[in-house]
Amino acid sequence: MKIGVLASQGAFAEHVSILNQLGVEALPVRLPRELTGLDGLIIPGGESTSIGKLIFIDNLTGEIKRLIKNGLPVFGTCAGMILLANEISDGNEVEPLGVMNIIVRRNAFGRQRESFETELIIPVLGEKPFPGVFIRAPIIEQSDSGVEILAKLADGTSVAARQGKLLASAFHPELTDDLRFHQYFLDIITGKR
Ligand code: GLN
Repeated sequence: MKIGVLASQGAFAEHVSILNQLGVEALPVRLPRELTGLDGLIIPGGESTSIGKLIFIDNLTGEIKRLIKNGLPVFGTCAGMILLANEISDGNEVEPLGVMNIIVRRNAFGRQRESFETELIIPVLGEKPFPGVFIRAPIIEQSDSGVEILAKLADGTSVAARQGKLLASAFHPELTDDLRFHQYFLDIITGKR
């Protein structure tokens, strides 16, 4: 299995390291030709405004959309989740790829809670709580048909979702040593889940 990690900007090295720990080949993607032959793609955290602009300039946007339409599994974390969304409720600074039936709000926790860590119950990962690392994180404000919400905060806010072979988290599983979320993505790719 070969997974690409979009490396235009942001925290891609951590994803590569987790995938390697799971025994999977992971390649940084900066050029359109590096998207060829991938079994899956990760869009990491960072700044969705910058990532969105850079992938457009580098001619990756159209090709990524085309591959997703043809069934490429994609996992977006934080800024990556923002880019997967159909709509961003606050402002038009970012042009999302518009491939997931979710409406997200950027920087949804405000200044007081810019970064925090909290234990999440994610039923698809089993009973053991998952360490949720949130950094200037977005939330899922609304989801539509075909979307399964995978994780909620204690107050009911949705923070992870799946739609077919697309997976999104508002938090950063790559900044923990818990491999279960990435394993779940691999299981989606192989059709086990
Ligand atoms: N706040 C960032 C954005 O709006 C996302 C932060 C992150 O990816 N850690 O793009």
